[in-house]
This record gives sequence, C-alpha cells and structure tokens, in this order.
Amino acid sequence: MEAISIFRYADRVVTRFLVAVVVGSVLFLARGVDASPQLAVARRFADHCTVCSTATSKNRSATAVSLRAFSWRPQVKAQNAVLRFSFVAGGDATITIRQSGNVISAKEIDGGVTFETEVSIAKLSRADVLSFETNRDARWLDPVILVPATDPRPNILIICVDTLRADRLGGSNNAMPKTRKWMQRGARFTRAYANAPWTLPSITTILTGVVPGIHNAGRRTDLGPAPKQYDLRPTPGKAGYRLTLIGRTYEFRRLSPAVPTLAEMLGEAGYYTAALHQNGYLDFPIDSLRGFDLAYHYPGMGESGTPRALDWLAKNRNTRFAMFLHYIDVHQWPVEIPQELRAIPEPKLTAEQRAKLGSLYDKQCAITDDYIDRVLSELDQAGALANTIVVITSDHGEAIAEYGRLDGHGAGVQENILRVPLGFFGPGIKPSTIDTRVSLRSIVPTLLDYARVPARAELTQRNMRPVIEGRPGRDRDFVSEFVLYGDDQAAMYSGRWKYVDGEEGKEFLYDVHADPAALNDVGAANREVLDRLHRAFRKQQIQELERLKAQRDEGITLTPETVESLRSLGYLGGS
Ligand SMILES: [Zn+2]
Repeated sequence: MEAISIFRYADRVVTRFLVAVVVGSVLFLARGVDASPQLAVARRFADHCTVCSTATSKNRSATAVSLRAFSWRPQVKAQNAVLRFSFVAGGDATITIRQSGNVISAKEIDGGVTFETEVSIAKLSRADVLSFETNRDARWLDPVILVPATDPRPNILIICVDTLRADRLGGSNNAMPKTRKWMQRGARFTRAYANAPWTLPSITTILTGVVPGIHNAGRRTDLGPAPKQYDLRPTPGKAGYRLTLIGRTYEFRRLSPAVPTLAEMLGEAGYYTAALHQNGYLDFPIDSLRGFDLAYHYPGMGESGTPRALDWLAKNRNTRFAMFLHYIDVHQWPVEIPQELRAIPEPKLTAEQRAKLGSLYDKQCAITDDYIDRVLSELDQAGALANTIVVITSDHGEAIAEYGRLDGHGAGVQENILRVPLGFFGPGIKPSTIDTRVSLRSIVPTLLDYARVPARAELTQRNMRPVIEGRPGRDRDFVSEFVLYGDDQAAMYSGRWKYVDGEEGKEFLYDVHADPAALNDVGAANREVLDRLHRAFRKQQIQELERLKAQRDEGITLTPETVESLRSLGYLGGS
C-alpha cells in the first residue's frame, strides 16, 4: 500500500525540518524577503486518486477525500503541514467544506476563480473525511500536502504576451514603456527568436525546452484537399487530431509523451504550478500544459485574466510557485482593422495606412502593458518579487503591413514573425542588455538552473544563466519550424546565416549580420554556404523523422469533457 510512503516522507522531513529551522530562517532573513516560511509541495495525490471521489451533477459538484487511506506520524503535525484543496468553479458559487459531516467553512466565491483552502494536518484524524460541495459545476484540482521548505528556492513567473514583436518591447517602437521599465531591472536579450511561428509549437517549446521537431506538438501532416474552407472541430486521427484550414485537412500531433515538461520538473521539486492562458489552441488535446497543477483558460481577455492571476498569486505568495501567465490581447489586434484597409493589397498601402495598422497593434500592446504593470506592481508591493525570477517574452511576432500581408503569423518564418522580446529579472540578476542570439528553448534550462533542479545534458547546454550573469555568450544556432498555414517552411540560423526552406521547395539565404531584417536573398552569390546549410537542414529533418518513426503511435482520444470544453470555447458547432 502506498500509504507507507508517507512514513518515509515523514522521517525525511523531520531531519530536514531541524535543518530548515536554522538554515531556512537564516536564508530568508539574509535575503531580506518575507520571513514567513516558503511552503513546498511534498506530495500530490494524483497517483492516489482512489482516495478522492468526485460527483458532479447539473448544478452541484462535490468531492470527498477520505484520510483513512493515509497515515502520518505526530511529527508531521509539528511541521505545520497542510492539505490544500483547490477548484475552479464555473461561476459564482457557494462552497461548503465539511470535516466528517461538520461544516468547517462556508463561503461565497466568484466564478472562475480558483479557490484554495488549507486544512492543517494537526487538526485532522485518520477517521476524517473531508468533503467539499459547491452549488454549481466545478473542477477539482489534485489535492497536495504542503510543508515548510527546507531549501527555499525562487518562485518563477513567466509572462508570455501572445504575438508580441520584439520591436515593441525594447526595440524601435516603445509601445510597452511600463513593461520595458520592469525588464530594465534585469537582463534583456536583444536577439531572441521563437522556435516556431505560431502559438502551439512555440509555447510547447517555451514550456519544455525542446524544439518542435522533437516535442511534436503542432506537427502537421497534410491529408489533402477538404470540401470546406475551415472546419475547426477537432476529430480524432491516427496519430493526433484533424482540422481543416484554408481548404485542406491536416492531422496535428500532440506533445511527445517522452518529453518532460517544465511544470513536471518543477512540480517534482516542490513547486505549485499554474498556467493561466487565453489561446484556444492550448486547450486542444495536445498536452502542452501537461504537469501544471492548474491549467486554466480564463474567459475574456487580459481584463479578466489579470485579477485571476493576482488572486492566485496572492493566495500562493508563500508557496513555492511557478506561474505561466499568457495574454492574448495583442493577438486580437486584427479585429480592429477596418474593412476598407482589408480590401487593399499590402504593397499598395500608403504610409498613412501602414501607420494606422501599426497604431492598432500598438493600442493592444498598451492595454497589455497596463496588465503586466499591475501584476508586477502588486507582487512588488507584497514583497514577493524579491524572491521571484520573472521572464517576459512572447511566443512569436507578427506581420504588420509587410511580407505581402496586412497582419498575421503562422505562414512564414520572416524576422518580425520569429523575433520576440525576452527578459529575465529577479534576485541575483543585474541590469544588462545582451546581444547574444538565443532561441526560446533556452528558457527552460535557465529556469531549472535558478530553481536548482538538475536538467538533462541536452537542456543544460542551452542554459543562459551564465550569460545573464555577465559571462560572454556566443550566438546560438537553432531551427524555427512548423507553420500553421500553407506549405511547410522552416528557418535554420547558423552563424551569420539564415537559411530558409521556403514554399514549394524554394530555398533562401540571408546574411543576418549585413542584413538584420533578412530581406535580401544572397543564395546565388553564396552557393557553397547554401548547399552546406541545405545538407545540414535535410540531415536534421531525417533525424527528426527517424525519431518520430521510433515513437509509439498513441493517437489522441477526444473525451466527452474535451469535446464539451472545446464547444464552450466556440471551436465546435460550425466555424
Ligand atoms: Zn501565439
């Protein structure tokens, strides 16, 4: 019986606790941060779901946890260990918490907000059954046991602004002055690149440290022409789910089960993890958010997400936390483009019309700037930033009246689509501007280093912490791949060269040192380089395909819950 493991855990923690009292308090006080102890997740119940039972009916949801299946020694009580229960309610609700039948708490809660209650283990006995009941539908998260951390570690906050160009944050157009000011507290990369030109594969790279060609999330197989232009209702396929985009049906694969996620690795190190996002693609059954204790698609846009993030952060301020906070507002700028501009082909736009498009985009940047400033200001005022590593970035850029398009991303690998802002600030990070070229796959190994979590060798070699802390860096070679629309395209950056495997098999070569915008194809004048990069790219592709063939074909099953969740997001029932 697994309950035995809690004895082992208790023995370990008793020793740790004594050390923690001495070392932990010294560390906290020495850093001058919040003196209340950091709570770390000691145990999740996910593997022991037999102890939890959940029932949901139309207007009610209840869960019960029997403590009989667990045992603990009196020493656990001495550590102020708590059992934490969380849920997400579908709307405003009343929650009633009972301990063996007796009501210990009854509260009104706001819809959608995660609610956490902690019950001191000292107040519980083996015979207890804890039950939670709401008067509406709710999603119950995995209960966790939290104990005072023996080795305080920094919290982690990744803020990802979907579709944010590098030139809007620290670049030529300062559309987000407040966020820029926060980033100036730490290390800012001036040449950071996304590993994919659209959300799903790029965010999966941000959250795994692995390139799309290996993690697979968002990898397409073209199944040929479709009778419809669009059909965004995902249907199960042989190795993924199928969608119709621009008159063709594609099968999309999910995150390879063999690739561990940042949330899983941090979760094992005692972090309590949450992903609050606003992009429907992350809800597809592809596991990009695998490992998060809370993966929550908040309704509305940043206006709705910001209070929810602040609520979660306020409740978890003393917990060793990692949050991925995603904003969609900038992504939605094209809805403001007037119809008369839509009718004009990109090359024919006047300077005034181009400026108008830019200002529509900048408006959404300014809105998001305020949200980010609000989150960081509140954390700062609460003293929580002193022990938090903050990363600010985007999953990809955007075309604004360029590359033959009025707007958009996902159909090409041009510089303004791949270049993104990237900054780190927090304890131990001094203000600096770093010109070393990096890609977003470096975020995971860097954060694992700050969190003192051992990483696999292939991750460690991409760690940016030494560069962030002032050591000289060297430009990284990398691939950006996987498009959403049209012909497959990819870019390979190698030294001063950008090689593009473009539409219809066309190849391009750019000298990004001499031509940073990568607009002048110099392939004809540098045939040897083009051939060398062509071979390197093909070799890399063959290796990816061989790896893919070796993986087990697991397919994706759409559960009724997934179908319902997609329907509620507007993905089902016609497009
Ligand atoms: Zn995106």
